Amino acid sequence: MGFEADSRLLLEENERETLWQRLSEITEEYISRVDQARVTPLEIRPDEIRSFIESFDLEHPLGPVEAVNRMAEGLWRFSVHTPHPRYFGLFNPAVTSMGIAGDHLTAAFNPQLAAWSHSPLAAEIEIAICRAMGERFGYDPKSTDGNFTSGGAEANHTALLTALVDRFPEYLNHGVRALDRAPVMYISEEGHHSFLKAAPLCGLGINAVREAPSDPSLRMDLNALNRQIREDRASGLAPFLVVATAGTTNAGVLDPIPEIAQIAEREGLWFHVDAAWGGAASLVPELRPLLAGAERADSITFDAHKWLSVPMGSGMYLTRHPNILTQTFSVETGYMPRDSKLYGGVDGYRHSMQWSRRFIGLKVFLSLAVAGWEGYAEAIRHQTAMGNLLRRRLTESDWILVNATPLPVICFVDGESEAGSRVEQLEALARHVVNSGRAWLSVARLAGGRRAALRACITGYRTGPEDVEELVAALANARSALREQ
Ligand SMILES: *Cc1c(COP(=O)(O)O)cnc(C)c1O
Repeated sequence: MGFEADSRLLLEENERETLWQRLSEITEEYISRVDQARVTPLEIRPDEIRSFIESFDLEHPLGPVEAVNRMAEGLWRFSVHTPHPRYFGLFNPAVTSMGIAGDHLTAAFNPQLAAWSHSPLAAEIEIAICRAMGERFGYDPKSTDGNFTSGGAEANHTALLTALVDRFPEYLNHGVRALDRAPVMYISEEGHHSFLKAAPLCGLGINAVREAPSDPSLRMDLNALNRQIREDRASGLAPFLVVATAGTTNAGVLDPIPEIAQIAEREGLWFHVDAAWGGAASLVPELRPLLAGAERADSITFDAHKWLSVPMGSGMYLTRHPNILTQTFSVETGYMPRDSKLYGGVDGYRHSMQWSRRFIGLKVFLSLAVAGWEGYAEAIRHQTAMGNLLRRRLTESDWILVNATPLPVICFVDGESEAGSRVEQLEALARHVVNSGRAWLSVARLAGGRRAALRACITGYRTGPEDVEELVAALANARSALREQ
């Protein structure tokens, strides 16, 4: 054996064996018992959490099994259990077992995706998944390019950047200040707010993000969009990008993709479809028509860590322009290996925002390898059916639905009380349900904050009819408890 640090970093062989054994027990205990636990901790006590952390005395190291045992206990106690079947939350699913296996292998082999020649298998698997996902959206695999990202926010940031590079040839070398007209982009007020961070990251101000109002069905109001583009041109600005959201975070609503594609084509705008969550509908033949028009998008955001249920973070940026990523990110260095070119491989660091990069795609590939497209289609169908069941049960119990989407996000207000659509009342109802530990749901502020609603999403594939009933019962309880106050 090598030097002495081995014993603390690598650990002895018998210690490692016990550690892996214990880790798989902890994993299995969590997966098989989480549904019997409260969804949320009894109460969040920051001082308790801090003293838990301080109980790890770094001057007096622990044994490996004791360390993971204590950490598992902490994770059990101090987390909202998003894999719980009654977590009706924000697109944080129960994860696939093959996804856990994928992250495990990734951590152990630690392939470096910055250089193609370091990890050619990993690099080729990722591009293969990007092409396969692009094909689901209607892209031609021969010209599809893409990369894996930390999540949807990075993919949207990439979209903004590639749109700027494509539409303004001076931008890449000289920046926004070289442009004679200020670039502006368009998204619905129900779109994702990661664009408000991406704009300043790309040298644009937040005001460059024009939020078109939503119509009563919470879809982008196209008359307002057209008007805003006209006014912006008249005042000397340079419209360059429009985003359609395919499955909004608030309400699961899909913007009218073909109509927005047409406006983009007429106006010469880069067309981006943010399908971070809703894009999974493309895996189900009968739901795929919802995404019609996405094949006309210049780029697409899709998050595998949402409805493909792999562990975070696993986003994708897809594009039908095979050279735009290289055009945007290609830099030469004196220190990176150059041998990838011999094989025609594309180095990750010249093709993405990230430099050193983990094998994000493995958890997706292994999940697909075992579930198959059909296994995923079934899971997505099941979740959609549970969404329909929840809609029906809520209506039967005098809740009023306020969003319309075939996807399983349900926004609703209390039809039994006059104050039933007031945000304070909805917050109180949600708090009561969450504090009961029986389920987790939230309050969404819709239409730029003009309306509020309770929001329940069938986030996980493990949610069954009995979990839907439990949520409805917990809501009924909350309603009568508040009435008695
Ligand atoms: C979740 C989401 C994002 C952001 O993705 P992250 O993975 O959280 O970075 C962007 N757009 C939409 C529509 C989303 O639902």
